[in-house]
Amino acid sequence: MPDYEPGCLFCRIIRGEAPSKKVYEDEHTFAFEDIRPQAPTHVLVVPKRHIRGLKEAKPEDSETIGHCHLAAAQIARERAIEDGYRTVLNVGPGAGQSVFHLHVHLIGGRHLKWPPG
Ligand code: 5GP
Ligand code: ZN
Repeated sequence: MPDYEPGCLFCRIIRGEAPSKKVYEDEHTFAFEDIRPQAPTHVLVVPKRHIRGLKEAKPEDSETIGHCHLAAAQIARERAIEDGYRTVLNVGPGAGQSVFHLHVHLIGGRHLKWPPG
């Protein structure tokens, strides 16, 4: 899998070729506001390296995926939503995955029901 997938929306956002409201960036991770927020905080945290989704991830992606979750936790801390937030990966079209570059949804700032729909 190449680091960059031509035509991938999130690869384009990471490279600044498509616009986004950037929230956070480090060596391995990029985070930006979801264009259709489902809660007061709805941030997408993505690995800079193109990984299609969780089911395509390989053992060598473990650290990168963990890093995305810890970045989400850091953003939640900064936004003072630690009373309750959710990190979600939609995996496959049946679960609502519509962009095939792995992304962690950070959702919070309101009461979250369980189970999710
Ligand atoms: P999925 O449905 O694949 O789990 O999540 C994709 C997310 O990307 C959705 O929540 C959707 O609103 C968001 N999204 C789709 N296109 C764009 C875009 O161009 N910019 C931003 N910031 N978010 C997008
Ligand atoms: Zn990509």
